[in-house]
Amino acid sequence: MKKHNFSAGPSILPQVAVENASKAVLDFEGTGLPLICMSHRSKEFDNVVVETEQLFKELLNIPDGYKVFFVGGGASTQFFHIPYNLLEKKAGYVNTGVWAKKAKKEANLFGEVVEVATSEDKKFSYVPKGYSIPTDIDYLHITTNNTIYGTELHEDIDCPVNLVADMSSDIFSRPVDVSKYAMIYGGAQKNIGPAGATFVIVREDILGKVSRPIPSMVDYRLQVKNSSMFNTPPVFPIYVIRETLKWLKSIGGVEEMYKINKKKAGVIYDEIERNPLFKGAAVKEDRSLMNITFVLNEGFENLQETFLEESKAAGMVGLKGHRLVGGFRASTYNALPLESAEALVKFMQEFEAKHTK
Ligand SMILES: *Cc1c(COP(=O)(O)O)cnc(C)c1O
Repeated sequence: MKKHNFSAGPSILPQVAVENASKAVLDFEGTGLPLICMSHRSKEFDNVVVETEQLFKELLNIPDGYKVFFVGGGASTQFFHIPYNLLEKKAGYVNTGVWAKKAKKEANLFGEVVEVATSEDKKFSYVPKGYSIPTDIDYLHITTNNTIYGTELHEDIDCPVNLVADMSSDIFSRPVDVSKYAMIYGGAQKNIGPAGATFVIVREDILGKVSRPIPSMVDYRLQVKNSSMFNTPPVFPIYVIRETLKWLKSIGGVEEMYKINKKKAGVIYDEIERNPLFKGAAVKEDRSLMNITFVLNEGFENLQETFLEESKAAGMVGLKGHRLVGGFRASTYNALPLESAEALVKFMQEFEAKHTK
């Protein structure tokens, strides 16, 4: 049966990227060697890294002065690499959920941390806006898409200090004005590749400003200087990222993707609003195009397990909500086809008909 993959991460990737990856595992582009058995310093693999960085620059319109590199460790490792490299005295964090909070916690080990804004008062169901940003902080950290709660910051904010953004779950989903950010980073496994690679986009002039000694692997300057090759990078994930970005380019890039993403999320949100069984978990203006969170309406809560069982039987994978929010979460990352969103809507309508008799 055809599966509709709504997994929050690791998650659906373009079919062509998965197919090319499976071929490359056996024979990497006619070299006669499996991709996973060859030197990361070979000319062939070096090309993959160079092309992947180039696709980042091209698809995100990254201005001069920025570098892109890939490391292991996941976004969570960046949570402490960021203050290690950038926090001299004080940093600001916007607390919009679990990942934002984890990032902030790590910064406490390196200096003073202020919570500039939070949406914890309403269980992270919205994104704080219009808060004033102190100018005496080394950087402001934000999380643009809150994967667990299903909220998203839909525009690039103006920030008087260096702006650092965790874009793990919405990178490449919409056009971004990279020039407004000092650094953008994220784990690959939500929207661009398999688990194991982390991307970092950093404006070079912000580096080298802290007085503490920095271990080599943590030091962004060395990662930048060695173009992802300071040590063995995550070879296989980087290859899949390249294939995913080639696919993205082929369908028209980020602008086109954004249109498709709005359409996909739109059909599901419309159904959540129409269907008397469900209600959205995030406020309308801040709801995410990537992670659609919804719960059962009053009176229908007993259908939680039934919905999961029946949706699974209908080929829908990964709809269980995060335990902190409950209910359901449909992740509609770039590679999810519109037909999967439509299949979910159809299923929700059938579910309504069956259970409201
Ligand atoms: C998944 C996620 C993380 C954690 O990523 P890891 O690569 O597992 O460390 C961090 N931030 C956001 C927004 C995420 O969605």
